[in-house]
Amino acid sequence: MGKKIISVLSCILIGALLVGCNQKGKTKDLINDENKDNKIKVMVSIYPLKEFTEKIGGNNVEVNCLVPDNMEPHDYEPKTKDFENLTKSDMFIYNGLGMESWIDSVNNVIDEKKVLKVNSSEGIDIRKEGELIDPHSWLSLIQVQKQCENIKDALIKLDEKNTQKYEENYKKFKDELNSLYNEYSGKFNQLEKKDFITGHAAFGYLCRDFGLSQKSVENLYGEGEPTPKQLEELVNFCKDNNIKNIFSESLASPKVSKTLASEVGADVVPIYTLESNEDNKGYIDAMRENLERIYDSLNK
Ligand SMILES: [Zn+2]
Repeated sequence: MGKKIISVLSCILIGALLVGCNQKGKTKDLINDENKDNKIKVMVSIYPLKEFTEKIGGNNVEVNCLVPDNMEPHDYEPKTKDFENLTKSDMFIYNGLGMESWIDSVNNVIDEKKVLKVNSSEGIDIRKEGELIDPHSWLSLIQVQKQCENIKDALIKLDEKNTQKYEENYKKFKDELNSLYNEYSGKFNQLEKKDFITGHAAFGYLCRDFGLSQKSVENLYGEGEPTPKQLEELVNFCKDNNIKNIFSESLASPKVSKTLASEVGADVVPIYTLESNEDNKGYIDAMRENLERIYDSLNK
């Protein structure tokens, strides 16, 4: 009798262990074999994609970012160690649109059967400046919704059984994005002033969303300080348009912004490009602060 109970118990135990193992083994061969726990290991290229993936994936994902905190991503190049970490991931999410100038070197290294590669900006409404593609799509509350949808779809592809959870998290975040957009769309529509000055030309998508216009100290890729002639033009523009705030990013030439501000008697005001983790602010909070500060500067 005793033996019988023990053997029944062992069966249950072994059964439970087997089920446990099965749940850990993930749905597709795409999942990297080296991952032993049941979280999806995601590598993203730049910081905002980390937060989007965590928002949608919740506890089911472990996300790392290739570009280290406090590094200007336009200057980043992956190191050998980065490639090693990348090949151990289940998924690699990048922004696309030329934000990762080094993307071809990654494509040569990762095995697409093991690491699912996700171009998060696929299908967005791309903005161009002349011939150049503007990579800063995550600064659009509208375009970022498509990027999050792509991330959500990729998570579902690897982990179909949690489809409902990913759909719900995505919808919740999308609602937050839309609500912030609607709030400021109404506010900006009532303003006559539309021009503001930034550090590097990162806010083109944001401007397009709200009918605003940016002038910048540095170009689209955060390169090059202005020539004396360009600086003079900026000074004249600020004076002609009664510009009272010069926005400055922590990672892009604050010195020039300060010079400009003192020339025209304006204040230097911080703005977040979200290209890196700044002040440990979440995406929605940082975007709300950006919009509030731009609004205040145009409302003077
Ligand atoms: Zn940038």
